[in-house]
Amino acid sequence: MNELSPRAQRIIEDIQKIRVNDAPTHGGRVLSYVYDSGIAELDELAAAAAREVQAVNGLDPTTFPSIAVMERDLLGFTRAALNGGDDVFGNVTTGGTESCLLAIKTARDVWRAKNKQFGRHAVGRIVAPSTVHAAIHKAAAYFDLTLDLVPVDPTTGAVSAEAVINRLDSDVAVVVLSAPNYPYAQLDPIEKVARVTLERDIALHVDACIGGFALPWWQGVAQPWDFSVPGVTSISADLHKYGYAPKGISILLQRGVQRHRAQYFSIVGWPGYPVVNPTLLGSKSAGPIASAWAITSYLGKEGFAELVARTQRATQELIDGMSQVVGLRVQGDPTGPLFAIVCDEAVRPSERVDPHLLVDELRTRGWFFQSQPGCFQADGSSLPHSAHLTITPVIADQTEDLLDAVRQSANIVRGRSSAGQSELVHKAAAAVMGVLAQHGVGADGSGVDDVPSQVIHQLLAVLGFDPGVGDLPTDMSSLLATAQRIPSPIAQRLLTEVLALVVQPAADPF
Ligand SMILES: *Cc1c(COP(=O)(O)O)cnc(C)c1O
Repeated sequence: MNELSPRAQRIIEDIQKIRVNDAPTHGGRVLSYVYDSGIAELDELAAAAAREVQAVNGLDPTTFPSIAVMERDLLGFTRAALNGGDDVFGNVTTGGTESCLLAIKTARDVWRAKNKQFGRHAVGRIVAPSTVHAAIHKAAAYFDLTLDLVPVDPTTGAVSAEAVINRLDSDVAVVVLSAPNYPYAQLDPIEKVARVTLERDIALHVDACIGGFALPWWQGVAQPWDFSVPGVTSISADLHKYGYAPKGISILLQRGVQRHRAQYFSIVGWPGYPVVNPTLLGSKSAGPIASAWAITSYLGKEGFAELVARTQRATQELIDGMSQVVGLRVQGDPTGPLFAIVCDEAVRPSERVDPHLLVDELRTRGWFFQSQPGCFQADGSSLPHSAHLTITPVIADQTEDLLDAVRQSANIVRGRSSAGQSELVHKAAAAVMGVLAQHGVGADGSGVDDVPSQVIHQLLAVLGFDPGVGDLPTDMSSLLATAQRIPSPIAQRLLTEVLALVVQPAADPF
């Protein structure tokens, strides 16, 4: 690598300073967002590979055939891992969200083309369990589909095949099941549902964004879930998760040449160059493809199998250990390298451990679990709030340390219902609702989108977030706790405002 000039070196130091408040990306202490293989060389390899194609535009594989070569290889590897035959095609996308959006958009277009009687702009239905990833909510919103959420069992987080099958009708554009789902790692009943969707010619997308590069080597998966199941029409799998690639790469595979081609957008009728896009983006970075290609080539099937074996051992140790902590319980029967812990309501209140208080306590010890809010389902049942853990290979040597931290933290927060906190939160929520009512917002949050941003800023100030500063609230967890106690449209508006404020343009620094 070339030496940087002192001037350039100072700029890199500036970035290092800007990064001081970031959560650690390596070492396994952050149990979400980052996927650390624990193989130090992979980072260097990924960076060197990305540098090789840094200036390439991934838009056009006819001008830069290297992109096509690497994409083809990654698709071939993934198709084999997911038991796809030669009727399975696909593309590289920039992430799980893009893969899911594209799968849904394609399914919608195929469904509309087959059901002309409903009209060109028919609003079809997506049927999916309540635990389906938010990316599918986003797809419904973007592509004008109705998301019909099937309640899951609140005590296990699992959905029954019958409940999904009962929702099927001719207006269903696509069913989405997960392998496994993100919140609780339940493997949805793909095989049973696929039998019916196949017979009725309904698309079935399997969201394996998180499981796609782990489950193929996971021991004891209870049911087939990939292209070996005939009714599965598409699968999303993220290379930037258990493929250990830097962010910006996922795979979407489609069964059938027609379905795959329906995914493409092409236009020659404008005065510029012919545009043929297989995915949502136009010009795009080639870096993530090169990094993923290099990492996949380095690991090979054996490497993936080894890393998954390490991860599976660690996951089992952590599940066993945490299940023994009085007051906590692991939600349902997880499949794959992730799980969620919830409060064990079967023990006396004085023995219960609130997962969010546990998360706060663990954070002071340098372990970052992900708090997941509870939520209501369409049938009125409620899913408990929980703490999510994504387990990566790097943690295999630290499971005892982590379990010690969990036991100690549980001892500190045990018996504390989040009551103290919840009184404050309750007051904050009431204050928010009171102010909004004066601005004509309904108790269900209706009309909140018409409230001016200045009013929302005042509310954020009440919640301890100074909108003038632009830094994140120091106490994100109580802001999130408040968000959980107000109607979703209001919570969404508040959080949107927070995230918009943190990127409010600063005075020109350059
Ligand atoms: C991560 C994930 C997604 C979204 O992927 P991004 O890469 O964050 O866009 C979708 N579905 C599931 C199951 C996931 O775990």
